[in-house]
Amino acid sequence: MDALDKYKVDLKDLQAGVATYRFELDDAFFELVGGTLVKGGHADVMLSVEEKGGIYALTFHIRGVVRVPCDRCLDDMDVAVDTENVLNVKMGTEYSDEGDVVVVPEDDPAFNVAWNIYEFIALSVPVAHVHEEGKCNAVMMEMLAAHLVTSEEPDDTGGEKAEVTDPRWDKLKEITNN
Ligand SMILES: [Zn+2]
Repeated sequence: MDALDKYKVDLKDLQAGVATYRFELDDAFFELVGGTLVKGGHADVMLSVEEKGGIYALTFHIRGVVRVPCDRCLDDMDVAVDTENVLNVKMGTEYSDEGDVVVVPEDDPAFNVAWNIYEFIALSVPVAHVHEEGKCNAVMMEMLAAHLVTSEEPDDTGGEKAEVTDPRWDKLKEITNN
């Protein structure tokens, strides 16, 4: 059995058109899905599945705290997650996740939502995420500050470049203009 099998939702098994699932995510989950942004954390996932006219609406409510690298110092930082997302799924001949509705093959209706859960969490992390002022890795911040000072030093090209043209090009221009 695959470690991520417990995140499978069997759409054929849906009794009375509605089902609810609960998943608890921990560091092992984030390691298994192997996403690049979120490296760990803890979260509760409440998933309700409702079928209407052949479309399965999967509503994920995800709450927890996940670990991502700080944009400024690259150390781990915690980000709170509280997000609700809906994913529409229908049965078809073969798997497809292009467009608004994910198609799950009729002969294999157990749909694994592990990656979808990961994506909803990753999408809820703010694009710019940094530690609070003063909470960044001090050593890294010192190195960054030193680097900034170095690259702001003037270069020693003499400063008379832009306006001076190369006489050879001037000659060539004369030729091509004739
Ligand atoms: Zn930081």
